[in-house]
Amino acid sequence: MSSKKRILIVVMDGLGDRGCEELGGLTPLQATETPNLDWFTKHGTAGTCDTVAPGVRPGSDTSHLSILGYDPLREYTGRGPFEAAGIGLIGRPGDVAFRCNFSTCDDSLRITDRRAGRVDKPDTEELLSALDGMEIDGAEALVRAGTEHRAALILRGEGLDARVTDADPHEEGPILQSRGRVPEAERTARILNEFVRRSYGAMRDHPVNRRRIAEGKPPANVLVPRGAGEFPHIRPFPEIHGMSAACVAGVGMIKGICGVCGLDVLDLPPECTGGAGSDFSAKMRAAMAALERYDFVLMNCKAPDVAGHDRDPRLKCDVISRLDEMAGVLREGFPPDLVVAFTADHSTPCSLGDHSGDPVPIAIYTPGNVMDDASVFSESGCAHGRIGRIAGRQIVPICMDLADRVEKFGA
Ligand code: ZN
Ligand code: ZN
Repeated sequence: MSSKKRILIVVMDGLGDRGCEELGGLTPLQATETPNLDWFTKHGTAGTCDTVAPGVRPGSDTSHLSILGYDPLREYTGRGPFEAAGIGLIGRPGDVAFRCNFSTCDDSLRITDRRAGRVDKPDTEELLSALDGMEIDGAEALVRAGTEHRAALILRGEGLDARVTDADPHEEGPILQSRGRVPEAERTARILNEFVRRSYGAMRDHPVNRRRIAEGKPPANVLVPRGAGEFPHIRPFPEIHGMSAACVAGVGMIKGICGVCGLDVLDLPPECTGGAGSDFSAKMRAAMAALERYDFVLMNCKAPDVAGHDRDPRLKCDVISRLDEMAGVLREGFPPDLVVAFTADHSTPCSLGDHSGDPVPIAIYTPGNVMDDASVFSESGCAHGRIGRIAGRQIVPICMDLADRVEKFGA
Protein backbone atom coordinates (compact mmCIF):
# COMPACT_ATOMS: atom_id res chain seq x y z
CA MET A 1 0.00 0.00 0.00
CA SER A 2 1.31 3.46 -0.84
CA SER A 3 1.87 5.92 1.98
CA LYS A 4 -1.18 7.49 3.56
CA LYS A 5 -2.35 10.88 2.39
CA ARG A 6 -3.67 13.76 4.48
CA ILE A 7 -7.22 15.12 4.19
CA LEU A 8 -8.61 18.66 4.02
CA ILE A 9 -12.38 19.31 4.04
CA VAL A 10 -13.31 22.86 3.10
CA VAL A 11 -16.84 23.69 4.28
CA MET A 12 -18.21 26.81 2.64
CA ASP A 13 -21.06 27.53 5.04
CA GLY A 14 -24.52 27.89 3.49
CA LEU A 15 -23.00 27.94 -0.03
CA GLY A 16 -25.83 26.13 -1.83
CA ASP A 17 -28.73 28.21 -3.14
CA ARG A 18 -31.78 28.24 -5.40
CA GLY A 19 -32.43 30.25 -8.55
CA CYS A 20 -32.35 34.00 -7.86
CA GLU A 21 -34.53 36.43 -9.80
CA GLU A 22 -31.78 39.09 -9.55
CA LEU A 23 -29.37 36.67 -11.29
CA GLY A 24 -31.67 35.76 -14.17
CA GLY A 25 -32.82 32.58 -12.44
CA LEU A 26 -29.31 31.28 -11.72
CA THR A 27 -27.87 30.42 -8.33
CA PRO A 28 -24.98 32.61 -7.09
CA LEU A 29 -22.60 29.69 -7.78
CA GLN A 30 -23.95 29.30 -11.33
CA ALA A 31 -23.72 33.05 -11.91
CA THR A 32 -20.11 33.47 -10.70
CA GLU A 33 -16.87 32.58 -12.51
CA THR A 34 -14.99 30.08 -10.33
CA PRO A 35 -11.95 28.95 -12.37
CA ASN A 36 -10.16 27.36 -9.42
CA LEU A 37 -13.10 25.49 -7.93
CA ASP A 38 -13.94 24.38 -11.48
CA TRP A 39 -10.36 23.12 -11.92
CA PHE A 40 -10.69 20.92 -8.83
CA THR A 41 -14.08 19.68 -10.07
CA LYS A 42 -12.80 18.91 -13.59
CA HIS A 43 -9.65 17.12 -12.38
CA GLY A 44 -11.38 15.44 -9.48
CA THR A 45 -14.62 13.66 -8.81
CA ALA A 46 -17.91 15.35 -7.91
CA GLY A 47 -21.44 14.87 -6.70
CA THR A 48 -24.11 16.32 -4.46
CA CYS A 49 -24.60 15.82 -0.74
CA ASP A 50 -27.49 15.79 1.72
CA THR A 51 -25.47 16.61 4.80
CA VAL A 52 -28.05 15.18 7.23
CA ALA A 53 -30.69 13.49 5.01
CA PRO A 54 -32.81 14.44 1.97
CA GLY A 55 -35.32 17.11 2.88
CA VAL A 56 -33.80 17.87 6.29
CA ARG A 57 -32.99 21.57 6.86
CA PRO A 58 -29.78 21.28 8.86
CA GLY A 59 -28.40 23.71 11.39
CA SER A 60 -24.67 24.35 11.10
CA ASP A 61 -24.15 22.26 14.24
CA THR A 62 -26.00 19.12 13.14
CA SER A 63 -24.55 19.33 9.61
CA HIS A 64 -20.97 19.63 10.85
CA LEU A 65 -21.53 16.59 13.09
CA SER A 66 -22.62 14.73 9.95
CA ILE A 67 -19.67 15.96 7.91
CA LEU A 68 -17.37 14.67 10.66
CA GLY A 69 -19.03 11.27 10.24
CA TYR A 70 -21.38 11.26 13.25
CA ASP A 71 -25.13 10.65 13.34
CA PRO A 72 -26.63 13.90 14.68
CA LEU A 73 -29.89 12.13 15.48
CA ARG A 74 -27.89 10.14 18.05
CA GLU A 75 -25.22 12.60 19.16
CA TYR A 76 -26.92 16.00 19.13
CA THR A 77 -28.09 16.93 22.62
CA GLY A 78 -29.16 20.56 22.12
CA ARG A 79 -27.29 23.83 21.79
CA GLY A 80 -26.10 24.19 25.40
CA PRO A 81 -23.08 21.87 25.27
CA PHE A 82 -21.92 22.98 21.83
CA GLU A 83 -22.26 26.69 22.61
CA ALA A 84 -20.35 26.17 25.85
CA ALA A 85 -17.64 24.36 23.91
CA GLY A 86 -17.65 27.17 21.35
CA ILE A 87 -16.45 29.64 23.96
CA GLY A 88 -13.84 27.21 25.17
CA LEU A 89 -15.75 25.44 27.97
CA ILE A 90 -15.45 21.86 26.73
CA GLY A 91 -17.16 19.52 29.15
CA ARG A 92 -16.97 15.82 29.85
CA PRO A 93 -19.66 13.25 29.06
CA GLY A 94 -22.44 13.58 31.65
CA ASP A 95 -21.83 17.28 32.37
CA VAL A 96 -24.97 19.41 31.98
CA ALA A 97 -24.41 22.63 30.02
CA PHE A 98 -26.52 25.79 29.73
CA ARG A 99 -26.43 28.99 27.75
CA CYS A 100 -26.76 31.97 30.07
CA ASN A 101 -27.47 35.68 29.98
CA PHE A 102 -26.00 38.24 32.30
CA SER A 103 -29.12 40.17 33.36
CA THR A 104 -30.07 42.93 35.75
CA CYS A 105 -32.54 41.99 38.47
CA ASP A 106 -33.89 43.41 41.74
CA ASP A 107 -33.88 41.81 45.22
CA SER A 108 -37.00 39.77 44.41
CA LEU A 109 -35.07 38.24 41.44
CA ARG A 110 -37.20 40.11 38.94
CA ILE A 111 -35.36 40.86 35.69
CA THR A 112 -35.40 44.53 34.67
CA ASP A 113 -32.85 44.24 31.80
CA ARG A 114 -32.32 40.86 30.14
CA ARG A 115 -28.91 41.85 28.74
CA ALA A 116 -27.67 44.04 31.59
CA GLY A 117 -27.10 46.97 29.25
CA ARG A 118 -25.17 44.69 26.87
CA VAL A 119 -22.41 44.24 29.39
CA ASP A 120 -19.23 42.81 27.83
CA LYS A 121 -15.73 41.60 28.62
CA PRO A 122 -13.69 42.36 30.71
CA ASP A 123 -16.54 43.11 33.16
CA THR A 124 -18.20 39.74 32.58
CA GLU A 125 -14.94 37.82 33.03
CA GLU A 126 -14.21 39.61 36.29
CA LEU A 127 -17.74 38.95 37.57
CA LEU A 128 -17.57 35.25 36.69
CA SER A 129 -14.38 34.75 38.67
CA ALA A 130 -16.64 35.18 41.74
CA LEU A 131 -18.74 32.18 40.61
CA ASP A 132 -16.38 29.74 38.90
CA GLY A 133 -15.88 26.51 40.83
CA MET A 134 -18.82 27.08 43.20
CA GLU A 135 -19.99 23.86 44.94
CA ILE A 136 -23.72 23.24 45.30
CA ASP A 137 -25.06 19.98 46.79
CA GLY A 138 -22.16 17.91 45.47
CA ALA A 139 -22.11 19.54 42.03
CA GLU A 140 -19.46 21.91 40.72
CA ALA A 141 -20.39 24.96 38.65
CA LEU A 142 -18.02 26.02 35.85
CA VAL A 143 -18.67 29.29 34.03
CA ARG A 144 -17.16 31.10 31.06
CA ALA A 145 -17.94 34.46 29.45
CA GLY A 146 -18.98 34.61 25.79
CA THR A 147 -19.55 37.68 23.64
CA GLU A 148 -21.42 40.63 25.17
CA HIS A 149 -23.98 39.51 27.79
CA ARG A 150 -23.65 35.80 26.94
CA ALA A 151 -22.03 33.13 29.06
CA ALA A 152 -22.01 29.38 29.52
CA LEU A 153 -22.52 27.27 32.62
CA ILE A 154 -21.57 23.64 33.19
CA LEU A 155 -22.82 21.65 36.18
CA ARG A 156 -20.56 18.70 36.91
CA GLY A 157 -21.23 15.91 39.39
CA GLU A 158 -22.77 12.50 39.95
CA GLY A 159 -26.37 11.87 38.92
CA LEU A 160 -27.13 15.15 37.14
CA ASP A 161 -29.89 15.15 34.53
CA ALA A 162 -30.37 17.71 31.74
CA ARG A 163 -34.15 17.31 31.53
CA VAL A 164 -34.86 20.58 33.37
CA THR A 165 -36.84 23.66 32.37
CA ASP A 166 -35.28 27.11 31.80
CA ALA A 167 -34.73 29.61 34.60
CA ASP A 168 -34.75 32.28 31.90
CA PRO A 169 -38.28 33.74 31.46
CA HIS A 170 -37.19 34.97 27.97
CA GLU A 171 -38.65 38.42 28.83
CA GLU A 172 -38.46 40.94 31.65
CA GLY A 173 -40.14 39.73 34.85
CA PRO A 174 -39.54 37.15 37.59
CA ILE A 175 -36.79 34.58 37.03
CA LEU A 176 -38.46 31.17 36.73
CA GLN A 177 -37.97 28.27 39.12
CA SER A 178 -36.43 25.47 37.05
CA ARG A 179 -38.26 22.16 37.35
CA GLY A 180 -37.42 18.60 36.41
CA ARG A 181 -39.30 17.38 33.33
CA VAL A 182 -38.86 13.93 34.90
CA PRO A 183 -38.48 13.02 38.62
CA GLU A 184 -34.79 12.06 38.13
CA ALA A 185 -34.03 15.67 37.15
CA GLU A 186 -35.53 17.34 40.23
CA ARG A 187 -32.21 17.54 42.05
CA THR A 188 -30.51 19.17 39.03
CA ALA A 189 -33.32 21.74 38.89
CA ARG A 190 -32.82 22.52 42.59
CA ILE A 191 -29.07 22.93 42.07
CA LEU A 192 -29.73 25.23 39.12
CA ASN A 193 -32.15 27.39 41.13
CA GLU A 194 -29.62 27.61 43.94
CA PHE A 195 -26.93 28.60 41.41
CA VAL A 196 -29.08 31.47 40.11
CA ARG A 197 -29.76 32.68 43.67
CA ARG A 198 -26.09 32.50 44.64
CA SER A 199 -24.98 34.21 41.42
CA TYR A 200 -27.07 37.20 42.51
CA GLY A 201 -25.61 37.02 46.02
CA ALA A 202 -22.05 36.98 44.67
CA MET A 203 -22.43 39.68 42.01
CA ARG A 204 -24.90 42.14 43.58
CA ASP A 205 -22.26 44.12 45.50
CA HIS A 206 -19.29 43.16 43.32
CA PRO A 207 -16.89 46.08 42.72
CA VAL A 208 -17.55 45.83 38.96
CA ASN A 209 -21.26 46.42 39.57
CA ARG A 210 -20.68 49.22 42.07
CA ARG A 211 -18.63 50.90 39.38
CA ARG A 212 -21.31 50.25 36.72
CA ILE A 213 -24.01 51.73 38.97
CA ALA A 214 -21.82 54.80 39.65
CA GLU A 215 -21.47 55.18 35.85
CA GLY A 216 -25.24 55.03 35.45
CA LYS A 217 -25.15 51.57 33.81
CA PRO A 218 -27.39 48.64 34.81
CA PRO A 219 -25.50 46.17 37.02
CA ALA A 220 -24.88 42.67 35.62
CA ASN A 221 -25.94 41.03 38.86
CA VAL A 222 -27.47 37.67 37.95
CA LEU A 223 -26.74 34.79 35.57
CA VAL A 224 -29.90 33.32 33.99
CA PRO A 225 -29.55 29.83 32.41
CA ARG A 226 -31.52 28.21 29.60
CA GLY A 227 -31.22 25.44 26.98
CA ALA A 228 -29.94 22.59 29.17
CA GLY A 229 -28.15 19.80 27.33
CA GLU A 230 -25.95 16.93 28.43
CA PHE A 231 -22.45 16.66 26.98
CA PRO A 232 -22.74 13.67 24.68
CA HIS A 233 -20.63 10.54 24.93
CA ILE A 234 -19.00 11.21 21.57
CA ARG A 235 -16.09 8.96 20.66
CA PRO A 236 -13.26 11.26 19.64
CA PHE A 237 -12.73 11.62 15.89
CA PRO A 238 -8.96 10.97 16.08
CA GLU A 239 -9.61 7.70 17.94
CA ILE A 240 -12.28 6.49 15.50
CA HIS A 241 -10.24 7.21 12.38
CA GLY A 242 -6.66 6.90 13.59
CA MET A 243 -5.88 10.41 12.37
CA SER A 244 -4.69 13.49 14.23
CA ALA A 245 -7.26 16.20 13.48
CA ALA A 246 -7.73 19.95 13.79
CA CYS A 247 -10.24 22.59 12.80
CA VAL A 248 -9.65 26.02 11.31
CA ALA A 249 -12.82 28.04 11.93
CA GLY A 250 -13.81 31.45 13.20
CA VAL A 251 -17.36 30.79 14.37
CA GLY A 252 -17.80 29.73 18.00
CA MET A 253 -20.45 27.09 17.33
CA ILE A 254 -18.30 25.31 14.71
CA LYS A 255 -15.30 25.44 17.01
CA GLY A 256 -17.55 23.99 19.73
CA ILE A 257 -18.72 21.08 17.58
CA CYS A 258 -15.17 20.28 16.50
CA GLY A 259 -13.87 20.59 20.06
CA VAL A 260 -16.52 18.22 21.42
CA CYS A 261 -15.60 15.72 18.67
CA GLY A 262 -11.97 15.80 19.82
CA LEU A 263 -10.43 17.95 17.08
CA ASP A 264 -7.80 20.49 18.11
CA VAL A 265 -9.33 23.97 17.67
CA LEU A 266 -6.61 26.19 16.22
CA ASP A 267 -6.22 29.92 16.70
CA LEU A 268 -6.59 31.93 13.52
CA PRO A 269 -4.70 34.91 12.17
CA PRO A 270 -6.63 38.10 13.12
CA GLU A 271 -7.62 38.84 9.49
CA CYS A 272 -9.82 35.70 9.57
CA THR A 273 -12.87 37.16 11.26
CA GLY A 274 -15.47 34.57 10.30
CA GLY A 275 -17.60 37.41 8.87
CA ALA A 276 -18.26 38.54 5.30
CA GLY A 277 -14.97 40.49 5.22
CA SER A 278 -12.89 37.54 6.41
CA ASP A 279 -9.61 36.88 4.58
CA PHE A 280 -10.23 33.38 3.19
CA SER A 281 -6.80 33.10 1.57
CA ALA A 282 -5.11 33.71 4.93
CA LYS A 283 -7.38 31.03 6.38
CA MET A 284 -6.35 28.59 3.63
CA ARG A 285 -2.69 29.28 4.34
CA ALA A 286 -3.42 28.57 8.03
CA ALA A 287 -5.10 25.28 7.05
CA MET A 288 -2.17 24.32 4.80
CA ALA A 289 0.26 25.06 7.63
CA ALA A 290 -1.88 22.93 9.97
CA LEU A 291 -1.69 20.03 7.51
CA GLU A 292 2.05 19.87 8.15
CA ARG A 293 1.21 18.78 11.71
CA TYR A 294 -2.18 17.05 11.33
CA ASP A 295 -3.54 14.19 9.19
CA PHE A 296 -6.99 15.79 8.92
CA VAL A 297 -8.13 19.41 8.87
CA LEU A 298 -11.67 20.75 8.68
CA MET A 299 -11.92 24.36 7.55
CA ASN A 300 -15.11 26.47 7.74
CA CYS A 301 -15.81 29.75 5.94
CA LYS A 302 -18.97 31.37 7.29
CA ALA A 303 -19.43 34.23 4.82
CA PRO A 304 -21.73 32.65 2.16
CA ASP A 305 -24.24 31.75 4.90
CA VAL A 306 -24.26 35.36 6.10
CA ALA A 307 -25.04 36.58 2.55
CA GLY A 308 -27.86 34.02 2.29
CA HIS A 309 -29.41 35.09 5.59
CA ASP A 310 -29.14 38.72 4.38
CA ARG A 311 -31.02 37.69 1.18
CA ASP A 312 -28.24 39.32 -0.84
CA PRO A 313 -27.38 37.34 -4.01
CA ARG A 314 -24.87 39.96 -5.25
CA LEU A 315 -22.97 39.79 -1.95
CA LYS A 316 -23.03 36.00 -2.17
CA CYS A 317 -21.54 36.16 -5.72
CA ASP A 318 -18.79 38.44 -4.39
CA VAL A 319 -18.08 36.08 -1.49
CA ILE A 320 -17.93 33.16 -3.96
CA SER A 321 -15.33 35.00 -6.09
CA ARG A 322 -13.16 35.41 -3.03
CA LEU A 323 -13.69 31.77 -2.03
CA ASP A 324 -12.47 30.84 -5.51
CA GLU A 325 -9.30 32.89 -4.95
CA MET A 326 -8.88 30.91 -1.74
CA ALA A 327 -9.15 27.67 -3.73
CA GLY A 328 -6.48 29.14 -6.02
CA VAL A 329 -4.07 29.45 -3.08
CA LEU A 330 -4.43 25.70 -2.50
CA ARG A 331 -4.21 24.87 -6.22
CA GLU A 332 -0.91 26.78 -6.50
CA GLY A 333 0.75 25.09 -3.53
CA PHE A 334 -1.01 21.74 -3.78
CA PRO A 335 0.86 19.06 -1.79
CA PRO A 336 0.93 15.77 -3.75
CA ASP A 337 -0.09 13.76 -0.69
CA LEU A 338 -3.36 15.59 -0.02
CA VAL A 339 -7.02 14.74 -0.59
CA VAL A 340 -9.23 17.85 -0.62
CA ALA A 341 -13.02 18.06 -0.53
CA PHE A 342 -14.82 21.31 -1.29
CA THR A 343 -18.41 21.35 -0.07
CA ALA A 344 -20.99 23.13 2.10
CA ASP A 345 -22.81 22.26 5.33
CA HIS A 346 -26.22 23.20 3.86
CA SER A 347 -27.86 25.57 1.41
CA THR A 348 -28.90 29.05 2.53
CA PRO A 349 -31.03 30.28 -0.40
CA CYS A 350 -31.13 34.07 -0.71
CA SER A 351 -34.82 33.83 -1.59
CA LEU A 352 -35.49 32.10 1.73
CA GLY A 353 -33.08 33.97 4.02
CA ASP A 354 -32.59 30.73 5.96
CA HIS A 355 -31.24 27.20 5.61
CA SER A 356 -32.97 24.75 3.29
CA GLY A 357 -32.75 21.02 2.66
CA ASP A 358 -31.45 21.41 -0.92
CA PRO A 359 -28.43 19.13 -1.48
CA VAL A 360 -25.06 20.88 -1.74
CA PRO A 361 -22.28 20.43 -4.32
CA ILE A 362 -19.17 18.45 -3.44
CA ALA A 363 -15.90 18.09 -5.36
CA ILE A 364 -13.08 15.85 -4.17
CA TYR A 365 -9.60 15.94 -5.69
CA THR A 366 -6.33 14.14 -5.22
CA PRO A 367 -3.63 13.55 -7.86
CA GLY A 368 -4.31 10.30 -9.67
CA ASN A 369 -8.03 10.07 -8.92
CA VAL A 370 -10.58 9.19 -11.60
CA MET A 371 -11.65 12.28 -13.53
CA ASP A 372 -15.37 12.27 -14.22
CA ASP A 373 -17.76 14.26 -16.37
CA ALA A 374 -18.28 17.11 -13.91
CA SER A 375 -16.27 20.21 -14.77
CA VAL A 376 -18.15 23.10 -13.12
CA PHE A 377 -18.43 23.60 -9.37
CA SER A 378 -22.11 24.39 -8.80
CA GLU A 379 -25.32 22.77 -7.56
CA SER A 380 -26.05 21.50 -11.08
CA GLY A 381 -22.46 21.09 -12.37
CA CYS A 382 -21.38 18.70 -9.61
CA ALA A 383 -24.43 16.50 -10.22
CA HIS A 384 -22.67 15.20 -13.38
CA GLY A 385 -19.96 13.55 -11.28
CA ARG A 386 -19.60 9.90 -10.32
CA ILE A 387 -19.95 10.35 -6.56
CA GLY A 388 -23.69 10.65 -7.12
CA ARG A 389 -25.83 11.86 -4.26
CA ILE A 390 -24.34 11.04 -0.88
CA ALA A 391 -25.01 11.74 2.80
CA GLY A 392 -22.72 13.99 4.83
CA ARG A 393 -21.59 11.03 6.93
CA GLN A 394 -20.08 9.40 3.83
CA ILE A 395 -17.64 12.22 3.06
CA VAL A 396 -14.94 11.18 5.55
CA PRO A 397 -14.99 7.47 4.50
CA ILE A 398 -14.76 8.41 0.80
CA CYS A 399 -11.84 10.77 1.49
CA MET A 400 -10.14 8.17 3.71
CA ASP A 401 -10.31 5.59 0.93
CA LEU A 402 -8.73 8.05 -1.53
CA ALA A 403 -6.12 8.78 1.15
CA ASP A 404 -5.27 5.03 1.37
CA ARG A 405 -6.23 5.01 5.03
CA VAL A 406 -8.85 2.24 5.24
CA GLU A 407 -8.35 -1.40 6.10
CA LYS A 408 -9.53 -4.00 3.62
CA PHE A 409 -12.96 -5.43 4.43
CA GLY A 410 -12.68 -9.22 4.00
CA ALA A 411 -9.89 -11.18 2.33
ZN1 ZN B 1 -23.99 26.52 8.32
ZN1 ZN C 1 -27.01 30.03 8.76
